[in-house]
Amino acid sequence: MTLDLLFHGAAGCVTGSCAELSGPGFRVLVDCGMFQGSKTLKALNYEPFPFDSRPIDAVLLTHAHIDHSGLLPKLMKAGFSGPIYATAGTRDLCRIMLADAGGIQESEVRHLNRRNQRRGREMVEPIYTEADARRVMEQFVKVRLGETIQVLPGLEAVWWEAGHILGGASVEVRAEGGDGPVSLLFSGDLGPGGRDYMPDPEGPSGVDHLILESTYGDRDRPRVTPEDRRALLAEELKAAHAAGGPLLIPAFAVERSQELLADIMTIMDEGQAPEADIFLDSPMAAEVTEVFRQRGWNRATGINPFTSLHTAGRLKFTPDPADSDRLEQLRGWHVIMAASGMCDAGRVRRHLKRLLWNREATVLITGYQAVGTLGRLLVDGARRVRIQGEEFRVRACIRSIEVYSGHADAAGLVEWARARGPIRGSVFLDHGEPPALEGLATRLAEAGTPRERIIIPQVDQAYRLTPAGAEAGPAPTPRIAPGLAAVPDWHNARAQLILDLNDRLEGLPPEARESLIRRIGELVAGAEET
Ligand SMILES: [Zn+2]
Repeated sequence: MTLDLLFHGAAGCVTGSCAELSGPGFRVLVDCGMFQGSKTLKALNYEPFPFDSRPIDAVLLTHAHIDHSGLLPKLMKAGFSGPIYATAGTRDLCRIMLADAGGIQESEVRHLNRRNQRRGREMVEPIYTEADARRVMEQFVKVRLGETIQVLPGLEAVWWEAGHILGGASVEVRAEGGDGPVSLLFSGDLGPGGRDYMPDPEGPSGVDHLILESTYGDRDRPRVTPEDRRALLAEELKAAHAAGGPLLIPAFAVERSQELLADIMTIMDEGQAPEADIFLDSPMAAEVTEVFRQRGWNRATGINPFTSLHTAGRLKFTPDPADSDRLEQLRGWHVIMAASGMCDAGRVRRHLKRLLWNREATVLITGYQAVGTLGRLLVDGARRVRIQGEEFRVRACIRSIEVYSGHADAAGLVEWARARGPIRGSVFLDHGEPPALEGLATRLAEAGTPRERIIIPQVDQAYRLTPAGAEAGPAPTPRIAPGLAAVPDWHNARAQLILDLNDRLEGLPPEARESLIRRIGELVAGAEET
């Protein structure tokens, strides 16, 4: 019996984390995440898993982010009935986030089905419902950092602080393979270290194989102290105030929102920026903030910076959609934080629709924006965008700051990987877009890891593991065309085409306009025939 490792997601892209490890007498998943980003990637969530869910014995979960945990209810629906091992923080966050994800899918499918009905298309089912998400929580089993868990005979695991989000961990696995024991370390997502709100990432030293996230594998960010970070944010707040209008922060509901809130409070309390009402327009972020109040202790410092958030008078919650609607009537200087962080779902889209054209408004992007998302288009300087089929000019000031990233940069990843050495076998790079993966491979090779031992897997690629080596199995049938995981897809191209066409038509004299419409019509009719 052999030991096999398969990458079902986060291979060549940053979402859909899911690795399958099987050996004599066990078959487990490390993470079971949702694909996010372009519509091509998201369509994978609706397809059946590329494996049978019933014989999966257990899931070892690194952290609560939806791109790592978001398909757990689907796994349960497909027949998985085993334990899901996770830290208490991850479990508490998953309880909120999976239910929210289920609710979003139910409402998106309702919306889609109304359209499908009008167009005479077939009805679709949500991937899972809020009720499914609540039911999967019964399968969670709590683990403590540093504790050795006997998952199954021949398989044990230890969770290590990852410094990424509350409860987040790297998972060390010791597995009995056909040729003796093999140790693997799944990094999960790694934090940058040096944060006052989170401990630095840790981990064992000396493993056979390392599976390393690569989100920022080709980029270095300036290292800043917490004081520098608050000073940078204060500058953004002052500039947004000077522009006259509201500041909209697309919010990553977990960790980033709470850190931003704590910092904004400190900045305003100290008089470093003009005071304002701050609206946390995300029911989920509000619930998550409560988890931080209870569990947000930094183990390294013994301090919980989130305890006083709820009692601060200027922080307002808008649980009711009607409260959210009322924000539209506000004028002048105020701050709104609304999910999602990449602007492709949730209440933030409504605020963007009403604020993007407004020169007095500022939109502050605070985190990684995947290819194909609205947030990425805005950061890349798009002057017009389409949101839910409508066109909007971008006149608001679009700003972005990188100091709130929950991810290590390239130097941080290399440093963390080096501290895990000696690594006897292979280093698998996942959870990155192609330039980041290649960039990190180069950086690791420069730091001494032989290039031939650095592997960049494709989706569904399998590897047979021994303590010192990894042999690739036959090339898998691709679920998406190679390379398509991290490029804008045809939906993006269509949106751009429609924007360009509208502009051109409006700019032409009537005769030329009619002629262009006729020629395009002929082209479309011709394309149908071929
Ligand atoms: Zn994460």
